[in-house]
Amino acid sequence: MILESEIQKNQNIALLLEEGTRTDRLESIIRELITELGMDLADQHFKGTPARVARLYRELTRGQRLNPAAILKTFHSKHSELIVVSDINFYSLCPHHLLIYRGKMHFGYLPDGRIVGLSKIPRLIQTMASRPIVQEDLVSEIADTFMSVVKPLGCVARATGRHDCVAVRGVKCHEAQMTTVALRGLFREKSSLVEEFHQVLTRVDK
Ligand SMILES: [Zn+2]
Repeated sequence: MILESEIQKNQNIALLLEEGTRTDRLESIIRELITELGMDLADQHFKGTPARVARLYRELTRGQRLNPAAILKTFHSKHSELIVVSDINFYSLCPHHLLIYRGKMHFGYLPDGRIVGLSKIPRLIQTMASRPIVQEDLVSEIADTFMSVVKPLGCVARATGRHDCVAVRGVKCHEAQMTTVALRGLFREKSSLVEEFHQVLTRVDK
């Protein structure tokens, strides 16, 4: 009879082998890309580049292999006023060019008997951003995930980002920023709540 721990060990080894095979494949694709672009893989600066770039892209896309809902542990609370977590740094990957965009996100919610630990909101945002996703969908999916797991009366996610694909190619606008907002629940119905959220952010900015 095979023990359960042995089965789990074997499954982990199989997963590691699969991850290793996929990393090798990614490395060879990047090797081909470098050669195709006319660069010399024998050059000292390019020798380790395929492995480094493979690791980099695995890191930039790690969010798609994680379950964001599992991050949001909730607690009971009587607090029923607006909660705001501001100035959360994030970076993500534009799915159209696979270039980085980065910025700040502000998040607010109106609890309905349940709150989440402070660090969980930045972790949710950073995990959901760690994959190729347009900034418009990023704020929407963060708000939707929060609504379905924490079930507050409403929430708002506001992100401002600078996109490398706008800065280094095409129009080459280095300073252009994009702001996207997702409103859910009572934030969609009551403009006074959105105003309160913006007022809190203005006070935090000072
Ligand atoms: Zn782009």
